[in-house]
Parts: sequence; C-alpha cells; structure tokens
Amino acid sequence: MEDVHEKTEVTVQGIAASQGIAYGQIFVYVQNDVEVPSYQVETAKRIDEVARFDRALVVTRQQISKIKNEVEKNIGAEEAAIFDAHLMVLEDEALIGETIREFESTGRNIETCFHKVSSRYVQAFSEIDDEYLRERAGDLRDVAQRVLQNLLGQAENALNRLADQRIIVASDITPSDSATLDRTAALALVMDTGSRTSHAVIVARSMKVPAVVGVRNLTQRVKNGDWAIVDGYDGVVILNPSESTLFRYGTIQEKKKSFESRLLEVNRQPAVTLDGVAVSLLANIEKGDEVTKAKAYFAEGIGLYRTEFLFLSSARMPSEHEQFITYKGVVEAMAPQPVIIRTLDLGGDKPMMWKEDLFPKENNPFMGFRAIRFCLEHQDIFKEQLRAILRASAYGKVKLMYPMISGTEELLRANAVLDECRVELKARGVAFDEKLEVGAMIEIPSAAVTADLLAKECAFFSIGTNDLIQYLLAIDRVNDRIAHLYEPTHPAIIRTLKQIVDEAHRQNVPVGVCGEMAGDPVFAPLLLGLGMDSLSMSPAWLPAVKFLIRSMTIADAKALAAEALTLRSPKEIYARCDEFYRARVRMD
Ligand code: PEP
Ligand code: MG
Repeated sequence: MEDVHEKTEVTVQGIAASQGIAYGQIFVYVQNDVEVPSYQVETAKRIDEVARFDRALVVTRQQISKIKNEVEKNIGAEEAAIFDAHLMVLEDEALIGETIREFESTGRNIETCFHKVSSRYVQAFSEIDDEYLRERAGDLRDVAQRVLQNLLGQAENALNRLADQRIIVASDITPSDSATLDRTAALALVMDTGSRTSHAVIVARSMKVPAVVGVRNLTQRVKNGDWAIVDGYDGVVILNPSESTLFRYGTIQEKKKSFESRLLEVNRQPAVTLDGVAVSLLANIEKGDEVTKAKAYFAEGIGLYRTEFLFLSSARMPSEHEQFITYKGVVEAMAPQPVIIRTLDLGGDKPMMWKEDLFPKENNPFMGFRAIRFCLEHQDIFKEQLRAILRASAYGKVKLMYPMISGTEELLRANAVLDECRVELKARGVAFDEKLEVGAMIEIPSAAVTADLLAKECAFFSIGTNDLIQYLLAIDRVNDRIAHLYEPTHPAIIRTLKQIVDEAHRQNVPVGVCGEMAGDPVFAPLLLGLGMDSLSMSPAWLPAVKFLIRSMTIADAKALAAEALTLRSPKEIYARCDEFYRARVRMD
C-alpha cells in the first residue's frame, strides 16, 4: 500500500455518489455511537479502572469547556449556555456514583458500567412528561458518548461543529449522524462503505456536496489535515494532488460552474417539454426548514416528506403537538401546493439507536421491523403521527402516504387506524381535511406485482426506486461490495416500473417516482417515457432535471423507454439513457 503521508499524489477509486468537485483538507470522522467492549477487570487493577474513569471525566470537562468558550466567542453567550447543561451532567452525583457502584458490584470494565447506567438515565429522562427534563436526555446522551470516546481513546465526533470547511472522510455515517451534518462546513463526503442510496449520500446530494463512496479503507490511510481532491463525477479521491492535477481540475470546475449558472436560468421557467407536455416536478425534504430550498427551486409541491428525521434528530419521541406544529409549518409554507407527508419509515438503516427496546438489533434490518410494520405494531406512536398529519391538513393541501406497503391487507389495516384517528379528532372537535388523499409507496416487489389491487385502494402511487431496486435485485442498498450490481437500468426494474404505471393508469391512479432515480437527469427521460406523472427529488436537482425536460420531447422519451424495454442488459440501457442525455445537454 502506498504511504499517502509521503507527499506523492495517490488516486483512490470509489463509486461516484454525488456530482461535483471539491479541493480541501480532510477531516477524519469517527462514528458517533461507540462500540463498547465488555470484559472483566482483575481485582488488582480495579483502582486503576476508577482512576481511568476520573481522567476521562476531567478530559471531557476540558473539551466541553473549550467548545463552550469557542461558541461564546464566535456565536454568543446564549448559544454557549447549553454547554453548561453538559458540564452539569459530568458533576451528576447519581450518574457517577451509580457507575462506580455498578463497577464495584460487577467488576466489569468501567465503559460497560457507565454505558449501562447512562443509557438507563437517558431512557428515563426521555420518557418524563416534562419538556425541560426530556431535553436533558439529549444532553446526557451527548455527554455520555463523549465520555465513552475518551475512555476508549477515540477522537471526538465533531461532525456537527466543524471549525472550517473540510472534506469529511468516514468509515460510515449513520442517518442520525448525517441528520446533524454541518451543511455549511462539508466540502465533500467520502465514505469507506456505502452506495449511491445510502442516506448520508442522499443528504450530500441534497446539499450538492460532492460524494464518493466505497473507497474501502481510506479512513485508515489518511489523517486530519491531508489535502485532497474529491471528484464526484468519476468517483475518485486524489490525495496530495500535484500542481498539474490541480490545474486540470480547476479547469473542469470552471466549466461546471458556468454550466450550473446556465441551469439556474431555467429555475423560474415551467417544466414543459419541447412538444408541450407539462411535467410535475416536486421536492423531497427531510426537515421542515428545507421547504425554503424547495421554494427557491420552484418545486410544485413536496413529493416526499421523510418525517422520520424529526424523530431521528431528537432524543425522544416528538409529541403529537410538536409534530403537528412542524407539519403545519411545512404545509402553510407550501400552500396551496401539495405536501405528501410520508408516515414514519424508521428501522432498516434508520433505527432510533438509543431506543433499543423499540428497535432491537436485527440480522437483516432492511427486511425487518421497519416502516409500516413498526407503525402497525406500535399504534400509539403511529396514531400520534396520523392525528398530527390530519390536523395539519386543515392548513393547506396535504396528502398522506405509507412506506413499505407490501399488499392490500397492510394498506387496509393502516387505513383503519387512520379512520380511528379521524373519529378521535372529530370527537375532540378538531378540524382536518375530510378529503385527504391517501397513497402508497410502491417499493416492495409484492406491491409492484399487486399494483392493480392496490390501485383500487389508493388515491396515488409513489415509487420508491431506492428500495424497489434493492429488493428486486436482492442488492443491499448500503453495501459497497455489491454496489456495482445496484443497477437502476436492469431490465427487471424497467419492466416493473412499466407494469406499475400501466396498472395504475388503467384505474386513473397517478404515479410519481420519489427515489434517487427521479433526480438523476440521465434517468428522468426514461421515467417520463415510461409514463410517470411526476418526479420528486432533492430540491437542488430540480434545475438540472428541468433543464433537460425543456430540451427534450415526450415523444423521444417514449421512444427511449420503448427501446429500453427491448434491451437485454443494464449496461446497454444505461448507455442509451446517457446518450439521450448528452445529445441534449452539453456542458460547454
Ligand atoms: C425509496 O426507497 O426510493 C425512497 C424514496 O425512500 P427512502 O430512500 O427514504 O427509503
Ligand atoms: Mg424507501
């Protein structure tokens, strides 16, 4: 293996995940949730173990005080005050005392004891019916992670408070960590693992941050401060780039920039093809504040609101009222345009990690206790969300959809719960839209195959290609080893998409696509040619897709789809799509 610390240029090939080029210094990110080893401590070494704990508490205190001072200096005293709550955790007699007592009685290593006691406290705080105390659960969890990292000698996690703009290099970034990603400081994202549809990549694409994934052990080959170029077009990372490489990339970047400004020229224009067909372009959002971006890019509505991120970015379950306020904010901001709110899609790659009682570890999480399966089992949580969505529907145009529907029975069960919520709200005298449209995500092969049956029960379909591809091709969407086999243009995918559209249209049910395929200008014509009624994507991709739509005809897109349906290999179909795109969109 080359030694990258020698200042020679080294090119590392990965998978292109989010387009763009970045040049800057690396920040090596160590994952937030630390693995806690568990072992027995010999009696003779028990004094040292307690001293180790004391040292970790002191170091943690120093780190937090330093952050507090920086925040106070750079942002303000009020913002810095939250770190006082963190410092108080470190002085909490009950937490520290109980950890020591746990250690004395079990003799297990201090990390295990501290983890056990602090997790118990986090859980207890998060369930208390008092706003202030519930917030303390978040503080406690944050500080506990920091203490554990110090005990284990790991670098602190500073993904959400990078001091300068950096290229983030990580082994993996979980959805809950990427939810806290500092969106202004990330120059680029590079991950050892992952694929184009892993959540951190979806976030990177939404921020137009270049990303390269599947670079295997890069985290072990670089250190903080190393210089690199990230090329999100070709999926390469160039460490210690030479002058000539920098010049070459500088020229490419210039061209891309001028192309980007051409794209923005269509921002206010309608998404109409050259042969006069209007296409509905919608935005995917994860947080309420992303509505601003959706509006800035003239989205015609929100096609996918991934509500689980409200839960993932919080240390406890948001209440019905908090959810209502958040959803209402989005709905009012978009009104009269529609907002499709997707009910919780927790589990899979998006478990609430601190809620181990709700999300026990699974061998096969993507096929496990996820999304609608979780909601139908935890109807108390589901109903709080449904009532919050119904209440928000009184303030604009809301549509509701369920994720991971596998067949009609599941859909009808979910609708029965929704009906109960309607009755409850009526009894409370609370207003909601009586005509609220309910749709299903089509992302499981069984739903695709039974699209004709589901169409009878749905007002609309939204195809989640990220999952549909993973389940149809049996390719784990976040496994970098098989990422090259994750092929959106596999004939099985194209045929399935066609079948879903045809069945739905036979019953006048509109069909949209909200997976990553929809926001990729290379695939958008194929999807439209197959008959999709709308495309929903990260707001930042709207201009690129609109630019292409305005440069093509639906007749040509239909011909492309018809030809794709006759081709045998994913590569051939991809090549045809790419050709279609390049013939219409020239970068220079
Ligand atoms: C999908 O599966 O395509 C989708 C849009 O949902 P998510 O990426 O949130 O699973
Ligand atoms: Mg999905």
